Parts: sequence; structure tokens; C-alpha cells
Amino acid sequence: MTDNPEILDEISGIKIEREICARKITSYAVGGNINILITVKDSNGIPHVLRALRKADISYLILGAGTNMLVSDDGFKGAFVRLNAEFREIHNVSEQTIYAGGACLISDLILFLRRNNLGGPLFLSGIPGTIGGAVAMNAGAFGGEISEYLTYIDVVTSDGEILKLKPSECEFGYRQSKIKKEKLFVTGVEIAVTPGKKIENEVEEYLTRRSKNHLQGSNYAGSVFKNPKGNYAGKLIDDCGLKGLRVGSAFVSEKHANFIISDDGGSASDVFDLMKISATRVFHFYGIKLEPEIQLVGFDIKWDEIFKL
Ligand SMILES: Cc1cc2nc3c(=O)[nH]c(=O)nc-3n(C[C@H](O)[C@H](O)[C@H](O)COP(=O)(O)OP(=O)(O)OC[C@H]3O[C@@H](n4cnc5c(N)ncnc54)[C@H](O)[C@@H]3O)c2cc1C
Repeated sequence: MTDNPEILDEISGIKIEREICARKITSYAVGGNINILITVKDSNGIPHVLRALRKADISYLILGAGTNMLVSDDGFKGAFVRLNAEFREIHNVSEQTIYAGGACLISDLILFLRRNNLGGPLFLSGIPGTIGGAVAMNAGAFGGEISEYLTYIDVVTSDGEILKLKPSECEFGYRQSKIKKEKLFVTGVEIAVTPGKKIENEVEEYLTRRSKNHLQGSNYAGSVFKNPKGNYAGKLIDDCGLKGLRVGSAFVSEKHANFIISDDGGSASDVFDLMKISATRVFHFYGIKLEPEIQLVGFDIKWDEIFKL
């Protein structure tokens, strides 16, 4: 990284903070410092920021609400870029479509659908995080994925180009997308909705189903691993007898073996070590390589290498 990130100071409409601890900006509440945290106020500012970061040779990562990330104890030598509250707006576009900003919280989307009697991606009920993060991850639950409801996606490329993409251009798959792969910055999306629907019961049903398997509170980031084809990561880890296993400040949840929880004030390396133990044990017993669903940030090792150790 360059010694001269002051180049950013010349860009208007952004807020720059230095040495921000990952504990404060991720749901895991572990990890070291992020060198620079940039909060962008308007979509015109994003191309300037991305170009400046490139010019100054600063690596960057897009941050939503940080509910799907584990930042290493060494932190991140670069910048996190996120959208400010001006990107949280939701409004009607037509009878069948609404627009939600990239920083809009999933909970606000569900509230909007509820208030306006609109059917839509209700299976997202209870998932924390932002629309931008959900689209990048193609978040889903109970057999549904957010990508099925998108009609277009507003993005800024890493070159600073502003594009309107169709879902078919985004290579959506199970917890993956071209958006994540190519670090396209989602500033907003149009979502297909069905008017005239009473959705309270459906939302309540999803929340009840979720409360049976999920945990309240923080210090984790949802499912640690993706489900391998035709199987469940949680079941495989459970079958290896790892529920409740503890490494220092982190432990495998007794409720769901695909959740690794950290104690307050815990360390990212304990969470990571437990991930490694779970994955290598599953590989040893079942020959299946579990892949992280959470985004690992600032770790030296490439995930696949853990199976060679
Ligand atoms: C209690 C709990 C339950 C969860 N349940 C589920 C579940 O059922 N299903 C599920 O799919 N996930 C689940 N998650 C994971 C997570 O909440 C979702 O993936 C969420 O959509 C991530 O949003 P975020 O804003 O927090 O993203 P972040 O964690 O900030 O980022 C995740 C990824 O998205 C990228 N990103 C973030 N914002 C943008 C943007 N504007 N443009 C482009 N890329 C962006 C980041 O670079 C990163 O790669 C759960 C998490 C928790 C803590």
C-alpha cells in the first residue's frame, strides 16, 4: 500500500476514518484494524473513490453491515468502502416493482413490503445485513434466493464505470455472484413485488422457522460454510461430533453446528482455527471439502491449503 493515501482527502462527499477496529463494524466483533474506512455519500462519488484507491495502489473491500465477514486479528491493510444512509431509501417504482438502495437494511425492506401489502422475497425475514451485501452474496433461505426477485441492479465497476445490469448478467449462483467476484459496487436494485398481499402470516412463519434453528444476538456471522451439493455443512460437522467444541474464545454452537460463535472480546484466530478443525475433520471422515460462506478478510492462507496441512 502507498504511504500517501492523502489523495483521498481531495474527494468531496466522502468521510474518511483511519485505523477502525473490525470489532466495531462486523457482527463477529473480532479482528484487528482496517487502515481506512471510507463512507460514500452519493453514487457519483464512488467512481472517484475507486479510481483514487487504484491510483494510490490501495487494496479495498466493499463493506455492507459486516454480517457475513471474519476479519483477521492482523486487520486489513487497505480500505473498506461503504455507503452512507442516503443509500437506504426504498420507494415504489410501479405496481410490480420497488427500488431499494444498496445500504438499505433487509429488515427495512421486509417492513416496507409489510406496510404496503406487497409480496416479495419474504424468506429474507430475519436475515441481518444490507441489500448490497445480500445481492453480492445472493443471500437466501428456505429455498429462495434474492436474485430471483431482482429486475435490475445498479453497480459501479472497479474501473469506476456506472452500469445497470440484468440479473442474467450477474452470474448468480449459490451464495455467489459476478458482483462479488468482480467487486462490483451495488448502489441499488429494483425488486419485483406482488401487490395486494397480506403477508404478516408469511413473515411470522419465516421468523418462527428461523428462531428454531438460528441464534439471537451477535458475535457470529450466520452459516460459516456453504452447504456442499446434496448435503448440509451443519449435519456433516455435527456427525463428526464437533457441536460444542471450543478453541479459546470460539465454540461450535450446540444449536446448529454450522455456526461458530465468539465470546465477547474473542479473537478471529480462534474462530478461524475452529473453522479449520471443522473442515479438515469433515474432509477426513467424508472426503468433502467445506468452503467458507463467510468472507475471510486479511488472512494469509488460501482456504484450500488447509486441506494439505
Ligand atoms: C444471525 C445471522 C443470520 C444469517 N442468516 C443468513 C441466511 O439465512 N441466509 C443468508 O444468505 N445469509 C445469512 N446471513 C449472512 C448475512 O447476513 C447475509 O449474507 C447478508 O446479506 C450480508 O449483508 P451485509 O451487508 O452484512 O454484507 P457484508 O458482510 O458487509 O459483506 C458480505 C459480502 O458482500 C459484499 N458487499 C457488501 N455490500 C456490498 C455492496 N453494496 N455492493 C457490492 N458488494 C457488497 C462484501 O464485499 C462481502 O463480499 C446471516 C448472518 C447472521 C449474522
